[in-house]
Amino acid sequence: MVVGSSHANVKVPQANYVKYILDTIQGFGDSIGWIDEDANGKAYSFANIRESILKCADSLHRDGIQSGDVIGVMSHNTPDQRILVLAAIYCGAVVYPCNHLYTQAELTRMFEIKQPDAFIVASQFVDKVNDVKGKVPEDKIYVIGESRTHKTFKQLLDNGSEKCDIMTCDDDTTILLMHSSGTTGTPKLVQVNGYALLASLILAAYVYVTSYAVSVTIVYVVSPMFHLGSIFATHGLLVQGSTHVLASNPTAPSMLQAVQKYKVTNIGALPPLLLEIVNSDVTMDYDVTSLKSVTTGGAPSSEEFKLKLRKKLNNAFVAEGYGQTEAGILTSSNPRSAKNSQGFLVPNTTMKVVDCTTGNDVGADVYGELRFKGPQVISRGYVGNEEANKALFDDDGWLRTGDLGCYDNEGNVYVTGRIKDVIKYKGVQVAPAELEGELHKLPGVADVAVVGVKDEVGYGGEVPKAFIVRNGDVTEDGVTRFLKDRLADYKQLRGGVVFVDKLPKTATGKIQKRKLPKLMGSLLSSR
Ligand code: AMP
Repeated sequence: MVVGSSHANVKVPQANYVKYILDTIQGFGDSIGWIDEDANGKAYSFANIRESILKCADSLHRDGIQSGDVIGVMSHNTPDQRILVLAAIYCGAVVYPCNHLYTQAELTRMFEIKQPDAFIVASQFVDKVNDVKGKVPEDKIYVIGESRTHKTFKQLLDNGSEKCDIMTCDDDTTILLMHSSGTTGTPKLVQVNGYALLASLILAAYVYVTSYAVSVTIVYVVSPMFHLGSIFATHGLLVQGSTHVLASNPTAPSMLQAVQKYKVTNIGALPPLLLEIVNSDVTMDYDVTSLKSVTTGGAPSSEEFKLKLRKKLNNAFVAEGYGQTEAGILTSSNPRSAKNSQGFLVPNTTMKVVDCTTGNDVGADVYGELRFKGPQVISRGYVGNEEANKALFDDDGWLRTGDLGCYDNEGNVYVTGRIKDVIKYKGVQVAPAELEGELHKLPGVADVAVVGVKDEVGYGGEVPKAFIVRNGDVTEDGVTRFLKDRLADYKQLRGGVVFVDKLPKTATGKIQKRKLPKLMGSLLSSR
């Protein structure tokens, strides 16, 4: 059975993505769009932001950046980076955010999937980009901050004209390449098209502002720039005319300090950071009486957790969003949480649930895989990965989420688990296949399976744990040292290593990962 949204359909214009944003913010004039917490509260009006995007687009365009060029970006969330991202997309380029925590090996692997033609990089990460094989041309590296060797943001801004007359086409091109491992395998690059992301912004604005009358005025968002949620939040707040407080390296105390300082009305953060607030006394040190709402998502959060959070944060109501990178980030949301659900479908969106074994549709209250259709769902799949693209949509064009859940007769969507092979540490994806691939290179490892287990010591949500069958001398310490330089810190085996005699497998030899944590005792290695 197909379930539709209870909201009325919303019109999503067929407009050039950046042009839509520029035209919308033109109406907000001199009101404050961004506050840069790192620059002691420097304020940017919407007019400033618009002018800067146009000037930088003009400079990039005159520098040869053109339609279809791929521009990597590595920086924290700063106004300069936000301006350059929009300027590059306005030139027709495809922006490719890269995680600054990546090791050289990880970055090389991503560049092998797609080599950027140009790069926007914060000065502290220039060496990282330069060290990667198949370098980006020197004259196509643009630096945020100081540089004696490369063009800087300031030069692009100073030399550009706001009368930038780039021919912008209205068609639905790819504007972003985002990392995701999908339902299985190693990290891939999702091609996010302009129409899908514009739809996401418009549907979210409809849900929060029009339908639920959430007054989104001064907002602080904590999300890493390499996650689509972060770009979605910045662009969404621009089109809503809200003030966005930007900070490059947010923590729970620094966020609450900013809440007090700028009288922030809404915060957006992933559950692990909010868990830190729930489990500590950090709120005691700050005045959070300006807060009206907290938006979370990206990982599960229980009703009990939301209630505790409300108590800590001025009784602000907690809105939860559910979605994924491949679905333009938002498919259901729950601004006024009544049930322990992930909310109602956003407008223009339909879903169905299928039995995980038979693939047949199931009805209300029956668990299965959640599948979606909607304008926010990306249309072009992953870069150069036909196999993964075939698996992404079913024969009828429904996006396979790899998430387990159900819906009820009132239209609540429940996400209860994952059938896909993905771990989310602090809300950020870790692909078990990537860790397994590395561990197979370690002499003495005969077989290995990596699974996500509950983080019992920190606020990570889930942490990776390895089950290893040995055929040589391998110790936990040896495994830890082996992975240290190969994978970014957030992918490390915080859940530990267990040596086992064998891994549970199906008749066809597929590892039955779900059985692993339960079988742990009986499988333990006798060596
Ligand atoms: P990403 O593409 O990195 O945003 O990850 C998307 C995945 O995160 C989803 O497919 C879910 O497994 C999980 N997820 C996102 N939002 C929620 C939520 N509100 N509750 C539970 N899981 C979520």
